[in-house]
Amino acid sequence: MKKKINTYLLLTVFLTLMAALLMAVAIFHHIYRRQVVADMRTCAYMLKNMNWQEAEVQDMPEDGGQEGSAEDGDEIRITVICGDGAVLYDNEAENGTLENHSARPEVLTAKKEGEGYAVRHSDTLGRDMYYFALRLDDGMILRISKEADSIWRVFINMMEGIAGIAALMFLVCFFLAHYITGGIVRPIEYLAGHLEEAEKIDTYEELVPFISTIRKQHEDILESAKMRQEFTANVTHELKTPLTSISGYAELIETGLAGEDDVRRFAGGIHRNADRLLTLINDIIRLSELDSDRMEILFTEVDLYEIAADCVEMIRVSAENHGVTIEMHGYHCTVQADRGMIEELVYNLCDNAIRYNKEGGKVDVTVGLCGNRICLSVKDTGIGISEKDQERIFERFYRVDKSHSRKTGGTGLGLAIVKHIVARHHAELKLASEAGKGTEVSVLFRSE
Ligand code: ADP
Repeated sequence: MKKKINTYLLLTVFLTLMAALLMAVAIFHHIYRRQVVADMRTCAYMLKNMNWQEAEVQDMPEDGGQEGSAEDGDEIRITVICGDGAVLYDNEAENGTLENHSARPEVLTAKKEGEGYAVRHSDTLGRDMYYFALRLDDGMILRISKEADSIWRVFINMMEGIAGIAALMFLVCFFLAHYITGGIVRPIEYLAGHLEEAEKIDTYEELVPFISTIRKQHEDILESAKMRQEFTANVTHELKTPLTSISGYAELIETGLAGEDDVRRFAGGIHRNADRLLTLINDIIRLSELDSDRMEILFTEVDLYEIAADCVEMIRVSAENHGVTIEMHGYHCTVQADRGMIEELVYNLCDNAIRYNKEGGKVDVTVGLCGNRICLSVKDTGIGISEKDQERIFERFYRVDKSHSRKTGGTGLGLAIVKHIVARHHAELKLASEAGKGTEVSVLFRSE
């Protein structure tokens, strides 16, 4: 980044410098040109007022009275042209050797307007020829011409000076760019290594949203790493318990000391714990599936009442085994949802309502409208959940009474799965519970 800013800065300086210098040369040349024409005009009027005709043209020296060689280009050439364009006198040419000058633009303009000038470029000399023509009172034209440097010559002559100044300025800018870039980049570099000090560092206001996003992401990453670590530790612990039991039962059978009844009992233990392992692993897999964004949800129009009623029928035997009655209420309502997930959700809620119920208790499953939203509610008359536990029961592996949960086949993951499914459907989860009296869990779907 530093390199890039530096390069861009220097490039900008270089281009600006070049443009400024070129413009300066062009302006200088323009002023110079105007000055040359003005000088020639003054000279022409002076000659006119001198009454040169009386001073006799032939007395004029051939080089226009100027000293110096032709190469320095400073001499003035004087030409006297008759009204018809014939050259009467030229201080640099033999009389009668010059062609008719009537078509020369400066002569034409002077004839018409009294005075005229023209600049012609000579490629061979690489110089410009300046002409100023003045109409005299008798109709003759007095023309003064002078050679002067063209813009390229001016530029080439100035080149040495320009290059020197440009190099000096470039050097100054080089160090300045280096210093400025350092100043711009320093807070950003410091920030990279000291993100936690972001608030204390004096940075640019444009960076503030950027910093807060990075900090938020940083915190999220740390949080999710912590959660993953906790989850792994919990999973390991949960898997260890049934595996230890299975290993223990197997070891007892292995000794050969156990009688036939004991072996059957131990095999039963192995079976139970293996089932528990399977349930646990299934729940863990399910949760990680729901966690991953790659899992696609198949939204279709589903009848919530029908799903809930099917679930109630399926679970009725289990309810009876627990001495609990279960009833379905409400009416047919359709929602956009993933059928499989909704079945899982209703099953988990009904299963909990039965397992954490009391002998002779009741479970009411209702589907209907709550305000303008379709709602599913599972209400029981069970043991309830204390206020402090209510906040935590949706956490993975959180159980109010571990042994009760385990005894009834719980994994501590059922409500975590429910929470995920609800979130995936952009629905809302509500919990109302009172310890000793019962619990009601409601899921409010988005109104279409
Ligand atoms: P588990 O497999 O242990 O049932 P859940 O995630 O389904 O796990 O529930 C977490 C905990 O919340 C349970 O262990 C239980 O303590 C409490 N809980 C869930 N549903 C109810 C309910 N209907 N009544 C009382 N307590 C409940």
